[in-house]
Amino acid sequence: MLLITVSTSLKERTLNYMADKVSFLNTHFDRMSSSEAIELLLARLLKRQGGRVYYANAHTMVTAAQNPSLAEALEHSDMLLADGSGVRLGSALLGTPLVHNLNGTDLVPALCKAGAAKGLSVYLLGAKPDVVEEAAANLKKRYPGLVIAGTHHGYFSEAETSQVLENIRAARPHLLLVAMGVPLQEIWINQYACQLPGITCMGVGGLFDFVAERVPRAPFAIRAVGMEWVWRLTMEPSRLWRRYLIGNLVFFGLVITYAFSPRQDEQTT
Ligand code: UDP
Repeated sequence: MLLITVSTSLKERTLNYMADKVSFLNTHFDRMSSSEAIELLLARLLKRQGGRVYYANAHTMVTAAQNPSLAEALEHSDMLLADGSGVRLGSALLGTPLVHNLNGTDLVPALCKAGAAKGLSVYLLGAKPDVVEEAAANLKKRYPGLVIAGTHHGYFSEAETSQVLENIRAARPHLLLVAMGVPLQEIWINQYACQLPGITCMGVGGLFDFVAERVPRAPFAIRAVGMEWVWRLTMEPSRLWRRYLIGNLVFFGLVITYAFSPRQDEQTT
C-alpha cells in the first residue's frame, strides 16, 4: 500500500515537473528547484530511462542562435535546466521567469552524494587525460559508495568514437557526464545518445576542471549573488573575455529583439 502511495506520488510529481515547461527565446526549459531536479534525475537514472540532459546559460543561448546543430540538440533534450544569472534576468525581463540557477557544477556533486548510497554509477567523458582521472578519483574519495564505471578524455577523433561508445556501453553506467564544452558536448550527445540505451547523458562543461581542482570555484558569497561569471573571467581572462563581455551584450540584444518581435500567438489573435 505504502509502495503504491509512494510510486503514485512520484509519478504525479514527475507529471507536474513535465508540465512546468517555460519557453524562453524559443527554447523550452524545465523549471524546477535544485532539490526537485536531484530527485527527478535520480529516479530517472536508477530506472535506466536514458535521455539527454543539458544546462543552458547565456553563452549557450548566444551560441545556439548562431549554431543550428546546438539549437537542434537543445530542442531534442529530455531535460533542459536554466543556468546562471543571465538566463534568470533575461527570462524575468520577458515575463517568463526561470527562478532557479541549476548548473552541473553544483548539481552533479549533490546527485553523486544522493546516489552513492543507492549504487549510482557514473562514467566521465571529457577534459584532458590527467584531469578526468583526477576528477574521478576525487569524486570517489568524496562519495565512497559512488561507482566510477569508467573514464575517457575528451580529445578523441571521429574515427575513435565507435570505440569510445563501445567502452561506455560495456561499462553500463547510469549516468554519462560529458565535459567537452558548449557546443561540442550537446552536439555529441544529440548525435550519439541513441546508441547508449538506458544511459542518461548530461553535458557538464568545465565540471571536471573544478572537481580535479585545476580551476578554483568562486567563493560562496560571490556565487550567492550571481557573480560567478565575474570570478571565472578574472581566473581565465584571455580565454573568457569574449564569451562574457561580448557574449553577455549579444545575449541581452537577443532578449530585447525577442521582446519587440511579433509573436506567433499575437499574430493569430
Ligand atoms: N574539452 C574537451 N574536448 C575538446 C574541447 C574541450 O574535452 O575538444 C574540455 C576542456 O578540457 C574543458 C571543457 O571541455 O575541460 C570545457 O570547459 P568550459 O569551461 O569551456 O565549458 P563550457 O563553459 O563551454 O561549458
